[in-house]
Amino acid sequence: MHNNKTKLPATVDILIIGYGPVGATLAALLGRYGVHALAVDRVHEVLLMPRAIALDNEALRILQLAGLAEDAFDKIVIPEVRMHCPMVGQFGRANTSGNLDGHPKLVTFYQPDLEHSMRAQSRLFPNVQHLGGFELVDLIQDDTGVLAILRGEDGSQQQVRSQYLVGADGASSKVRSLIGQDFQGTSYSEDWLIIDAAEREQQAIDHVEFICDHRRPTPHMPAPGGRERWEFMLQAGETREQMENDEHIATLLQPWITADQLKIERKAVYRFHARCCERFQSGRVFLIGDAAHITPPFVGQGLVAGLRDAANLAWKLAWVVNGRANSKILDSYDQERRPHAREMIALAKLMGSMVMPKNAPMAFLGHGLMRSLRLVPYLRSFLEELEIKPKNNFKRGLFMPVVRGRRLRRGGLFPQGLVRTQNGSIGLSDDSLGDNLTLVGFGIDPCTQLDEEIRHCWEGCGGRYLHVGLQGQKSRATTPFIEDLNYALLGKAPVGSLAVVRPDRIVMHEGPHTQAGKLIRESLALLGY
Ligand SMILES: Cc1cc2nc3c(=O)[nH]c(=O)nc-3n(C[C@H](O)[C@H](O)[C@H](O)COP(=O)(O)OP(=O)(O)OC[C@H]3O[C@@H](n4cnc5c(N)ncnc54)[C@H](O)[C@@H]3O)c2cc1C
Repeated sequence: MHNNKTKLPATVDILIIGYGPVGATLAALLGRYGVHALAVDRVHEVLLMPRAIALDNEALRILQLAGLAEDAFDKIVIPEVRMHCPMVGQFGRANTSGNLDGHPKLVTFYQPDLEHSMRAQSRLFPNVQHLGGFELVDLIQDDTGVLAILRGEDGSQQQVRSQYLVGADGASSKVRSLIGQDFQGTSYSEDWLIIDAAEREQQAIDHVEFICDHRRPTPHMPAPGGRERWEFMLQAGETREQMENDEHIATLLQPWITADQLKIERKAVYRFHARCCERFQSGRVFLIGDAAHITPPFVGQGLVAGLRDAANLAWKLAWVVNGRANSKILDSYDQERRPHAREMIALAKLMGSMVMPKNAPMAFLGHGLMRSLRLVPYLRSFLEELEIKPKNNFKRGLFMPVVRGRRLRRGGLFPQGLVRTQNGSIGLSDDSLGDNLTLVGFGIDPCTQLDEEIRHCWEGCGGRYLHVGLQGQKSRATTPFIEDLNYALLGKAPVGSLAVVRPDRIVMHEGPHTQAGKLIRESLALLGY
């Protein structure tokens, strides 16, 4: 589709540069929150290169938040991740079976499918426009907005003015360089060949395996659509051309597939980096996804981190643009997201050192040590049950100060469970929270202690209410009510307590129901009221 004659709107509330998976997720979320947004991309189609393959439960929950149905794209549920060393055998394992907060702990997927689904989702909203064939070339910001200069495919330039601009333009982000936010930190700079083979139904493995051979580390995993992926680290002196050669690939895959059965679907050599910029915000310009941080994929957290960015930023932008909150709340995006993104990069580097030991003695020692640690029950469960993964608990940001010893952590993720709504339908509890800031009552109607005036203020800021009861309980009150079918919510807070939950499912405040008015007043103060 050529855009010679496409006229860009002169003004929008939010301009998103980049319509990759993270930009599209932000667009879908802004659509849901009723914001007038435009997403532009220099290309029209989704990228077909072999990239993200794994998503965790938090990512799936954000896709749910953005409106994707569970079956919107194919997934394979991964029951375990195995770490294997040629010298010491299996030295590590992560138990990824079961689910957390309503979603499988680990799935593999096909990135173009996810991107198509997310684009389709964002297209449902008339308030969100997206146009391919426009490249950002410059931006100028002042006190009231950002002027973006975009070049169309015919070389002509157009300008779009927005209240806020979001750079979702990937690892080589133009937005990042225009706001002077060069990546900090060292880069791995290791080259890897990624191969996706097709027609592997019934033959692909059912789990993720890391063959941590110092001579040729090789992660290996299945993907939907009969795909199977291998990643091979390049050795010194090997070139991209050699590695991407089909005959060479057939030799590399010989232990798994005979050459006559090999169907290479996609192949690419990538250079993996571990980098994060100094600030995710400069005035009215924000960075999300790979534009803000890039990580080696060893813990499958690159896209996941970008999805977290989108969920965190979307509602804050919406609340500000819609006049429900002071623009100061936007500062909390960087405060909340950057430390966690850095922690994930550090974990990926640690995992990288296990996957790519420098030589045989290091492999023997490192992998042998990991194997011995598993003999200690506490450490075994710490490693196997993914306790090593940094929790999405903020230290600073848009929530009331953390009180030690509370079961529900302020600045942490609100749990999700299976619930029955008042009309008898069974679903996930986030869907009952909807797009709102919600005052949740655990075993109690959260409205009982609220006077008219405070309810009016709360509702004016997009505040709603939800009463969580036990399975089998009913409520005659007008407050929305859900039955907690698997005790996933009621098990996490004392009966009679309340929580203020942000639209991105982060706990903003919590306390006893006797302090309902105080909880709301303090939450409104955080929003600038
Ligand atoms: C081999 C590999 C394996 C991976 N595995 C995983 C995994 O298992 N799990 C995981 O979570 N992540 C993984 N990742 C990372 C994941 O793929 C990325 O984090 C994710 O694709 C980033 O999405 P994004 O939307 O931020 O950027 P991108 O997907 O790069 O999208 C950026 C968009 O911006 C557009 N653009 C760029 N510049 C401009 C401009 N000036 N003007 C207009 N448009 C512009 C581009 O055309 C593009 O469409 C992997 C990556 C690789 C390479």
